[in-house]
Amino acid sequence: MSQSHAEAFAPPREADDERRNLVGLSRAELAAVMAELGEKPFRAKQLWHWIYHRGETDFAAMTTLSKDFRARLTETHVVRRPAVNQALISKDGTRKWLLSLPDGQEVETVYIPEEDRGTLCVSSQVGCTLTCKFCHTGTQRLVRNLSPAEIVGQIMVARDDLGEWPKDDSEVPAEGRKITNIVLMGMGEPLYNYDNVATAMKIAMDNEGLSISKRKITLSTSGVVPEMEHCGRELDVNLAVSLHATDDETRSKIMPINNKYPLKMLLDACRNYPGTHNARRITFEYVMLKGVNDSDQDAKRLIRLLKDIPAKVNLIPFNPWPGSFFECSDAARIKRFADILSAAHISSPVRATRGDDILAACGQLKSESERKKKSERAAAAGA
Ligand code: SAH
Ligand code: SF4
Repeated sequence: MSQSHAEAFAPPREADDERRNLVGLSRAELAAVMAELGEKPFRAKQLWHWIYHRGETDFAAMTTLSKDFRARLTETHVVRRPAVNQALISKDGTRKWLLSLPDGQEVETVYIPEEDRGTLCVSSQVGCTLTCKFCHTGTQRLVRNLSPAEIVGQIMVARDDLGEWPKDDSEVPAEGRKITNIVLMGMGEPLYNYDNVATAMKIAMDNEGLSISKRKITLSTSGVVPEMEHCGRELDVNLAVSLHATDDETRSKIMPINNKYPLKMLLDACRNYPGTHNARRITFEYVMLKGVNDSDQDAKRLIRLLKDIPAKVNLIPFNPWPGSFFECSDAARIKRFADILSAAHISSPVRATRGDDILAACGQLKSESERKKKSERAAAAGA
């Protein structure tokens, strides 16, 4: 069964607990809740600080609020993140959290520590309705959008586990942070869940809370052209585009979305992406697939396609997953491809594969329960 974009389910209401989660509400929504409770608007500011600056989940500990108000909040509201089902640490230090959602669905979040930064790779949907042939997430049958709480909750879970909440009211220092960057490169197509992603990213950027600068947030899209300009105007985050091929025929074969938004449309949308200039380039992701998209011809075509776009290219060695039928290009081929781009002054680093021993590398994410269901089906079929 494959689902179209329109059929991706909306997140369900949390059935097991009638209390309303305050996480994921915009500032205006939180102020509206205060009004419903007969509280002054400044209470919203105080709560925002506890929830997003201090990471507090227990109303009783929110000592700037009156005792009576804290007790009332405990009865009617919660500050909840997705539950951590499993936390895995790779031999290279990459971490992956498998998160359980209230409807039993699962989603994955990955943390990649590097010398000069720490990047959190956040999911935007359970699974993905697009079925890119090289991507494990695209083979997941069940797909639904994540709510703002489930998106911003991933950042909060990571902060919990990394021990990164400030101990007092002082500002989070820009230096020495563990999570410096957010990339929307986990499960799902963020531009097919734009509204919830936007609410969550505005919370993440708010400098009285999680305080992650929009310059440090990158949204990766497979090329949902009609949403791109709007996203740039409203969120002004960095854009990454999954290009992966240099002609429509090949791209449509490996990325069916290309039938809807072919290369010319996609590259026009990139040219028009607000705020793009030489100091703030669009990243074009390019997965290296042996014999599919990795020839010298491809490299040369890529240079032509990107001629008038402030661009950098990120070459991603293909990461295999159980049942995948592509191979990664050889190291020498990747180097040659990168050299051709460099000679044309296009920056083209090869992305290091991280966390593949815990299936945390690009394109390997798929919820554990889906994998289990599949292996159970296979076992039953074989029995
Ligand atoms: N849906 C969005 C964001 C998530 S994917 C998008 O497609 O852009 C993050 C990146 O990993 C994308 O560039 C994606 O094409 C790439 N990717 C998917 N499967 C991969 C695999 N098996 N090996 C390497 N990269 C992969
Ligand atoms: Fe979805 Fe991105 Fe995977 Fe394509 S590469 S199936 S758009 S998550």
